[in-house]
Amino acid sequence: MSGSDPLAAGPPPEHEVKALLREAGVAVPRGATAASAEGVAAAAGGLAPPLVLKAFGPGLVHKSDSGAVRLALAGPAEAAEAAAEMLGGLLAQGITPDGFLVEEQAEAGIELIVGVVRDPGFGPVLLAGLGGVWTEAMRDTAVRLCPVSEADARRMLASLRGSRLLRGYRGRPAADMDALVKLLLTIGGAGGLWERLELGEFELNPVIVTGRGAVAVDARYIPDDRHREAPRPAPAAEADFTALFEPRAVAVVGASTNRPNFGNMFLEFYRTTGVPLVAVHPEADEIDGVPAVPTLADADADYALIAVPAGRCAEVVRQADGIPFVQVMSGGFGEAGAPELEAGLVRAAREAGTRLLGPNCMGVYSPRGGQTFIGGEPGPPGHVALISQSGGLAGEVVRVGERRGLAFSRVATVGNSADVTPAELLRWLAVDEHTSVVGMYLEDPRGGRALFEALMSVRGRLPVVLLVGGRSAQGRRAAASHTGGMVGDDRVWQALAEQSGAALVTGQDDLIGVLSFFQSHARRLGAPGAGPVTGGSRGAGTDGDPALLVIGPSGGASVLAADVFDAAGLSLDALPEEAKSGLKALGIGVGSSLANPLEIPVGPRGRPELAREAIAAIVARRPYPDVVAHVNVQSFFTYGSSAEPLYACARNLAQAQEDLPEVRITLVTRNGECAPPGVEDGVRAIAAGSGIPVYRSMESAAVAVAAAKRFTRGA
Ligand code: ADP
Ligand code: MG
Repeated sequence: MSGSDPLAAGPPPEHEVKALLREAGVAVPRGATAASAEGVAAAAGGLAPPLVLKAFGPGLVHKSDSGAVRLALAGPAEAAEAAAEMLGGLLAQGITPDGFLVEEQAEAGIELIVGVVRDPGFGPVLLAGLGGVWTEAMRDTAVRLCPVSEADARRMLASLRGSRLLRGYRGRPAADMDALVKLLLTIGGAGGLWERLELGEFELNPVIVTGRGAVAVDARYIPDDRHREAPRPAPAAEADFTALFEPRAVAVVGASTNRPNFGNMFLEFYRTTGVPLVAVHPEADEIDGVPAVPTLADADADYALIAVPAGRCAEVVRQADGIPFVQVMSGGFGEAGAPELEAGLVRAAREAGTRLLGPNCMGVYSPRGGQTFIGGEPGPPGHVALISQSGGLAGEVVRVGERRGLAFSRVATVGNSADVTPAELLRWLAVDEHTSVVGMYLEDPRGGRALFEALMSVRGRLPVVLLVGGRSAQGRRAAASHTGGMVGDDRVWQALAEQSGAALVTGQDDLIGVLSFFQSHARRLGAPGAGPVTGGSRGAGTDGDPALLVIGPSGGASVLAADVFDAAGLSLDALPEEAKSGLKALGIGVGSSLANPLEIPVGPRGRPELAREAIAAIVARRPYPDVVAHVNVQSFFTYGSSAEPLYACARNLAQAQEDLPEVRITLVTRNGECAPPGVEDGVRAIAAGSGIPVYRSMESAAVAVAAAKRFTRGA
């Protein structure tokens, strides 16, 4: 490469990008340049034919389109001839090339595209897919956030629809996958070329892969530093958020003595939780029976909730000296087109030495610490944490989740995340003794890179369930460049989940359902804050095992179950031969085949112990890490009249779970709407007593089981 800073003078020509690649360890064809057509013969002298001739210079982005690529040239003389012709053709189009590149022609193989684009939210993203004409026609590409691991690179290639071509087809040799993976890591792995790129656009199209290596025969790099973000002023140290969730006392700023507002509502909420309270009001001595002080500077608290108009918030925050956390509830900042007001808020927080939650958020919920933003009695303290960019949704997840048996440790709504971000909270939750699983509701990929890094740092230690709003809309905002156009945010979110082992769910129901699975099976999944597994280690030898045993009544539902779990990537491995005599002794499968899903009589007249005994007989022979038992609730009330047989089934499953601490048992109560009121709650309570999560459909159970498998894979 010539010159001191090759990137200063605009897009570098192909041969300079190739020099950069060669230096990084990527194979490129041997080649030489000539400033004129006359110089091509001499330049080609040392090269082994067949040769390739290309022109470079302004206006030559897609060279083939302009006739600026010639292949299969027999030697220097033919290359010179081709150069003269090419020059004529280019001049006729009004293109004056800067020069010519003549290079050795790589052996034919499979053409791939490999690129790096900068996603507006997540930063550098590696892209790989079928190259050449296939890039446009098939849109068969995979993306991962940089840096990618070797496993990421292999999964990326395996995920391509065209991966069969790489494995060898119709007598053609298999591609050199190791060379390809090495190339992906050289570009997008830790310490890879991506770290030195100023993107823009970086694209190798094609990389030709054969059975003996991978060669980048075209390379384009368009530097662009306009996306470079000013680094946000980092807080001095990682905060300890304990006082945010368990404040000694709370100050509320903005409650009114005569016109009840949000501040008054919060005073009411806090009175229910019993946390020590102080109101801030310029004149009053008390508000709604809560003692008041004139300014926030006079309040002795760990947390201040600020509900005054946006324009006055910074001045209040500035008085928070000595209060470790403030929460600005008011809206009217960045989200309303007033970023300078938001920046002023952050400056005020820095000046006061306090950390800021929000603005434009609801606050914090933590039954253990008297924190709340929801009316009514707080739920039971537990181990499920939630970080939400929407206060409203957080309230729904908390209340509906509690109704379904979730118990929360810490819930934080973050609003605009001007200071405290989801990423920072996540890092802290990973060391919080009370938290064993985290749900996140996010809408905004800003700060996506920090989130990715935080997720990677907790990978395999802390299960995370992601619900992302606006994925399709964000996709439309993807970068406008060629490869950028193909990335789209939704694929990046999926990549983020794939790489970090987080579960990416599509709705509130699944968010609660997956959290519930992790809460119930926390110990069996080795999650933090959950204590040791009672009576065994965390499913020794079964981590990451995709196998699943499904057991329940016969019929179409059993067949459909197989389809649902199959679609979720879970394998219903065949029952072990050695278990079959045991099952026959139980009267199961006499005269019929024994399979997975295992069909057994379950109903008002069946023996309620049967499922427990069958599970025990099977897992003694093959340690299925997950067992999903299903019942048809409708049958219990069509062919029976009391809830007792159903409860007896649930009690037996609960007993099975107690007996088999290394197996994760899940219960699906199909057709629960056929049960009289209260019965489903009764079943749920019995199951929960032994740590069994309950779902009303196979689909939601499958989402949860798959999420747990993904987590154990990353451990
Ligand atoms: P474009 O700017 O049109 O993308 P390329 O440099 O990719 O130009 O060349 C077009 C096609 O020519 C490539 O897709 C590839 O099939 C082939 N090609 C280019 N250079 C070489 C080479 N050195 N060896 C083998 N094939 C090449
Ligand atoms: Mg090309």
